Amino acid sequence: MKQLVVLSGKGGTGKTTVTASLAQLLKPVVLADCDVEAPNLHLLLSPQTDDSFPLKVSRKARIDPDLCTACGACAESCRFGAITTGDPYRVDAFRCEGCGVCGFVCPEEAVDFFETDGAQVYRGMTPYGPMVGAELAVGEEASGKVVTRVRMEAQLTAHEAGLPLVIVDGSPGTGCPVIASLSGADLTLIITEPSLSGLHDLERILQVAEHFGIPTIAGINKCDIVPELADRIRKRCGELGIEVAAEIPFSGEVVEALRGRRPPVGNVPPEVEEPLRRLALVIEERTAVATG
Ligand code: SF4
Ligand code: SF4
Repeated sequence: MKQLVVLSGKGGTGKTTVTASLAQLLKPVVLADCDVEAPNLHLLLSPQTDDSFPLKVSRKARIDPDLCTACGACAESCRFGAITTGDPYRVDAFRCEGCGVCGFVCPEEAVDFFETDGAQVYRGMTPYGPMVGAELAVGEEASGKVVTRVRMEAQLTAHEAGLPLVIVDGSPGTGCPVIASLSGADLTLIITEPSLSGLHDLERILQVAEHFGIPTIAGINKCDIVPELADRIRKRCGELGIEVAAEIPFSGEVVEALRGRRPPVGNVPPEVEEPLRRLALVIEERTAVATG
């Protein structure tokens, strides 16, 4: 089983559109929606949820009012301002980062810690194969732990179903969730767009992918909106030996398809669908999996 991770420097570059198209073109595959802070893949692929379970993600402090003598040491030490003084002293769970300092400074051992359900991980079925994703609890941030669990469940699902390819819709950026999306992947596809930030983001993600030694290809979305910058991206990819495997022109019909929650292939014009089909062929070749 192989893993393709689709990444972009920021949200809104078309990463999820491309991921959904690849699911349609390479089916049956397993999908892992690791863009846990802004999950959109389910809107396009409409999974029917089979089961879900809570995932403990973070720990929070709590104060026992029977032991607390209101000395104030914890509130003074909490650099997140999570402890409200008064009668009794309380911890604001939304602010608490679980750092443990309050427990360390408390002379009365009045602080203990508990783990919270930070996310609900679900498994479902789309018309193109099984999908795994997560819904973060209110106030939780995307964490590598959630991403790692989603990917692990997707790999297990692929194993059980005998499916050859997991497509991971990764988090945007280059932070911890992205690193969790990437580790152990077989191929990275970076979706970028012709803008200065697109060029900059491409460089940053390439550095991360290179660090993990993962082969990388690129796709330029809305390639015709600023031709000079598209040229610079092509040139830079050439210098770095990165294949530009798709150049997808801008089309208002893509936006319409997204708005109507229709999967892209079959709902976008041929000049958009054609590069997506070529991209799917490159991925088949590069991952050496026979799908479809
Ligand atoms: S665990 Fe850290 S963040 Fe949470 S209340 Fe204690 S000192 Fe503040
Ligand atoms: S340090 Fe301990 S005893 Fe002092 S206010 Fe905080 S919880 Fe209460």
